[in-house]
Amino acid sequence: MRLRRVAWLAAWSVVNVVVSVEVSACGPAPKPPVQVMVLGLSGTSMETRQVELTSIANLTNLRGGVLSMTGANRVTIDPNDPLQSQGIDNMTDTQRFEVLVKDKGVEPRGHFIDRGGVYWPGDFHTWNMVTTYFNFETAYGYFADLYGEQDPLLKDIRGLRLMYFPEFRLLSADPLTDNALYYSPLQAFMILPFKTQQRIPFAMNMGIIGHEFSHRVFNSRVYGGVGIPEVWKAGNLASLNNRWTGLPINLLRAFDEGLADYHGYAVTCRDPIGGCRPNFLNLSLEDQQYASQRDVGRTNACLTSTLKSALESTPPDEWVRSTAMYVYGNIWATALLQGGLAAGQEGAMRQGLMKAMNNGSKPYNDIARLVSQNASSGQNFTVEALANTIVENISDTPPNQSELKRQLCNQLITRLAIDCNNGGMGPCRPGVEFMKACPSTSARQNFCKYPPE
Ligand SMILES: [Zn+2]
Repeated sequence: MRLRRVAWLAAWSVVNVVVSVEVSACGPAPKPPVQVMVLGLSGTSMETRQVELTSIANLTNLRGGVLSMTGANRVTIDPNDPLQSQGIDNMTDTQRFEVLVKDKGVEPRGHFIDRGGVYWPGDFHTWNMVTTYFNFETAYGYFADLYGEQDPLLKDIRGLRLMYFPEFRLLSADPLTDNALYYSPLQAFMILPFKTQQRIPFAMNMGIIGHEFSHRVFNSRVYGGVGIPEVWKAGNLASLNNRWTGLPINLLRAFDEGLADYHGYAVTCRDPIGGCRPNFLNLSLEDQQYASQRDVGRTNACLTSTLKSALESTPPDEWVRSTAMYVYGNIWATALLQGGLAAGQEGAMRQGLMKAMNNGSKPYNDIARLVSQNASSGQNFTVEALANTIVENISDTPPNQSELKRQLCNQLITRLAIDCNNGGMGPCRPGVEFMKACPSTSARQNFCKYPPE
């Protein structure tokens, strides 16, 4: 409560500046920063809250430096469409957008009421859209701080495209509903219409937007920002037989999801009222048991033999639609979180994860290289290689030397049942090829059973 009152008071000091905006014929277009009301989480419910948008260029059209929205798009993925019958993998990103987006949509028009320089949404969709924009701006702020001003890849997370309530048919006559997603083949975010969803709308859940934003970050840093990365390609054309199969592709997709949950949680920590929510999905997902399996804060996440065989043998197109992919990804997420917490270095962990995806200056390996160097066959993309690459890129906050690496190694080795000592049961030892980036003090801990059951 107190925090909210302070925000209101702080806002008064800028009221005079904002009040004198020109109101164009198309609705309010105040210059940033703009004071708006959004819906934020408080406990398990939503409350109205005044915030400041710093990147918005046109409030009425919900267009700004971070994100531009279009509404009423129609997107159809359908192999029976003559334009798609040869597959969509081999198109350029621009061609694919042209072919799949059947109706390019229109700019939305938010309806705002100016109350002393604070813009109040006038209807539900405006509340939803402006809250969405704010959540994207928050996620952008989180990642931009980790990137740093000098990072050349920062441009890839600006000027993003969002389709609001599109009619999105994905290999089905019925449009998808009740979801928020980053749809990589179109390099666009989508906020889908509600149908049965009764809980906190996805776009109003800051953690979910943080999760989706993380996919864009992963796409940019690991795949070079292309809509369909080489290793995903379906192999349905003669020239495209280099798609990864089995464990490598399943591992890569699941890690992307786990990392997205980890960052989604970290973005919620930017909410001064709601605070850090490791279990942010339980507010929005109907299936509470599944939501709890994706809780980044759960301390009992361990590989099981069922998950292990699912990872190794589920066909990739089935895997990406399975809950197992997310639950396996969650094991990585919990290892990252618990490792950072145990070392008291969450910030250094997040920074290291950016480098692990793509470290630019190349003294070490990174995931981008691990993927691209093995693009023709994923056989070297193993659990151990991925874990080791991450550890390699983690640096402790001085004066610590290797506490963060050690804690992370212990978490990864234990939770993922990494067989770093050939025998499988013992601790990792220095010089072991699989986990060579781990300090010699790394050891399997006793919170997971091994061998997995
Ligand atoms: Zn995801």
